[in-house]
Amino acid sequence: MKVKEEMDSLVKKDTDHLWHAMHRHVENQPTMVAESGEGSWFTDVNGNRYLDGVSGLWCLNLGHGRQEIIDAASEQMKQLSYFPLTLSHMPAINLSAKISQLLGGSYKTFFSNSGSEANEAAFKIARQYHDQNGNPGKYKFISRYRAYHGTTLGALSATAQANRRMKYDPGVPGFLHTPPPYSYRSLFDEDAEKSDLIAAEMIDQMITWEGAESVAGVIMEPFISGGGVIIPSKAYLKRVSEICKKHDVLLIMDEVVSGFGRTGKMFGFMHTEGVEPDIVTMAKGLTSGYLPLGATAVKSDIYEKFKEAGDHNHFRHVSTYGGHPASCAVALKNIEIIERENLVNRVDELGETILGQLKELIEHENVGEVRSVGFLYGIEMVEDKQTKKPASDQLIGSIIGKCKENGLIIGRNGDTVPGYNNVLIIAPPLSSTEDDLEFVVNTVKSAFYDLKAYVK
Ligand code: PLP
Repeated sequence: MKVKEEMDSLVKKDTDHLWHAMHRHVENQPTMVAESGEGSWFTDVNGNRYLDGVSGLWCLNLGHGRQEIIDAASEQMKQLSYFPLTLSHMPAINLSAKISQLLGGSYKTFFSNSGSEANEAAFKIARQYHDQNGNPGKYKFISRYRAYHGTTLGALSATAQANRRMKYDPGVPGFLHTPPPYSYRSLFDEDAEKSDLIAAEMIDQMITWEGAESVAGVIMEPFISGGGVIIPSKAYLKRVSEICKKHDVLLIMDEVVSGFGRTGKMFGFMHTEGVEPDIVTMAKGLTSGYLPLGATAVKSDIYEKFKEAGDHNHFRHVSTYGGHPASCAVALKNIEIIERENLVNRVDELGETILGQLKELIEHENVGEVRSVGFLYGIEMVEDKQTKKPASDQLIGSIIGKCKENGLIIGRNGDTVPGYNNVLIIAPPLSSTEDDLEFVVNTVKSAFYDLKAYVK
């Protein structure tokens, strides 16, 4: 804990020099400065302890302070501090083989540093594949409204959240958007599965009307996470996968959030039998946030097309730090721990039981829907259950603020369109203890009880 003068000077330095991510400038309002962490908890410089109910930015899946991971990074740095993947090194070889095994197929992996970069690589690979497969006109990508796929211009173009793109548009040409399987606000059908299947058929129609010969890929998360925890019926992804096959369009699964156990399966797409994505992108949970790493895993039959002779037929893409030896060593250790501690099954079970108690909040007058898969929860807040008018900023802010006051950090969905950032998001570390999870449930619930008094 810092003394007052030290704190004042730190806050001033922060205000003068540090440009925070997504920061709205508010004069004289210092942000939270974290100092240390242990398990699912962190402590700020004022000595306040918080449970991180959103795992940082959905990445701190094993919580803070895992000595084995720290040792893996430091040993790797001692042994080989850096080496580029224009050549090769052992941690990257072993990690690529492990990823292929986890995906349950034959995949070849290209490493980068982040989820955005993993998606950028996927777009370039898809376009080049089609070109070298005799279909040079296939260049367009389809994604869904409300989806977030990253911050770089290509990934931002796949992102269909108006507020995120505002003032940065126009994006990269060739990115199209279609309605998500969002049954709560669907105009298609009252039945969730039927509504989701219509959303899938709209992808089919979009490909047909655009001309299948111009469409390279469909990119989607198995469950839209940052866009409001949107959980489609099981039939949806199966149908999308069939549609992609029918039109020779690559299915790119963005598993940046959902990968490595977050949803109660190793990868989110594994909730749907018979789906084999052409490309799977990953980051965040790949290293549990201990070091940066992105990965683009590509089915081996797609890679075949990159073997052809010719000056420009190899994948001409390089990232200085992509697949850094220490990051790969950390990822290997992270996966080893997830498997050894059986965390994927644990998330599946405890997500249903302990965190599942959050579903009781549906009784509250300001809760329109509670959606979940594994350790990923979304509470859609409304002013009125009948009209589904999104809850006001004040209402949502009061829940988030109350949780924070009581030592729990929770989030809300990203900048979609004005007024629609009304989904509270809860995604604690996968290794949270049962006491931690009970604390999450009790703190969120009591914030809602207080709110009831507050609203009336
Ligand atoms: N894809 C999804 C689904 C994400 O949620 C994110 C980040 O939140 C990204 C991609 C981009 O990842 P990164 O921030 O590591 O670039």
